[in-house]
Amino acid sequence: MTDKSQDSEKRDGKHKKAMEKQKTNVDASIAAADIERGVGILLTGNGKGKSSSAFGMVMRALGYGYKVGVVQFIKGVQLSGEEIYLKGKCPEVEFYQMGTGFTWDTQDRSGDIAAAIRTWKVAKAMLENDSLHLVVLDELTYMLAYSYLEEDEVLSALQNRPAAQSVVVTGRGGGSALQEIMDTVSEVKDIKHAFNNGIMARKGVDY
Ligand code: ATP
Ligand code: MG
Repeated sequence: MTDKSQDSEKRDGKHKKAMEKQKTNVDASIAAADIERGVGILLTGNGKGKSSSAFGMVMRALGYGYKVGVVQFIKGVQLSGEEIYLKGKCPEVEFYQMGTGFTWDTQDRSGDIAAAIRTWKVAKAMLENDSLHLVVLDELTYMLAYSYLEEDEVLSALQNRPAAQSVVVTGRGGGSALQEIMDTVSEVKDIKHAFNNGIMARKGVDY
C-alpha cells in the first residue's frame, strides 16, 4: 500500500468517526425537541437577506398547501417581485401593504402613524386567524423603533396568536423585548453589499 492510500484510509476512518459522533448529537437533539407548536421568528441585522428569507418561508408553507398572511409595513418607491407575484398569482396568500412611501421620503409623521395603525389592524386580525399557518410582518420593527405602534400591544398580539401559527417579523432593530418573546432570532450581518460599490439594485434579486 502506498503512503498516499494509507493516508486516505486514515482520513476516511477519521471522517467516519466524526460523522458518527455528529449523528449521535443530532439524533439526541431531535429526540429532545418534542414540543409541537408554531414559532416566532425575528430576522434582523444590517445585511441583505431578511425579507427574502421570510418570503422563502412563505414558499415553503405554500408548498404544503397552507394559508399564509403577509403584511408589509413599509412600501418602497419601487414595486417588488414578491408583491406582483403574491397579489397577482397567489389567492391563498392574504397580502396587505401599508401603501405610503418610506418615512424618509414622506416626512409626514402623523400621516405615517395613521398608516401604521391602519396596517397594524390588518396584521392583528391575521394574528387572530387560526386558519393562517404562517404570518409574515415585513419591516414591522421600524414601527416599534419610531414608536408608531404601541410596543405592549404588538408584543401581546404576537404572543397570543393561535398556537399552531408561526410568525416571522423582519427589519433592523426592534428592541430587546421583541427578541425576548421570539423563539428564533437571527441577525443577518452586513459584510458587504453590491450597492455600496455602485451596483444598482437588481430587479428580481433586490426587489
Ligand atoms: P432583502 O429584501 O433583499 O432580503 P432585507 O430585507 O434584508 O433585504 P432591507 O433593509 O429591508 O433588507 O432592504 C431592502 C433593500 O435594501 C433590498 O433591495 C436590499 O438589497 C437592500 N439592502 C439590504 N441591506 C443592505 C445594505 N447593507 N446595504 C445596501 N443595501 C441593502
Ligand atoms: Mg426587508
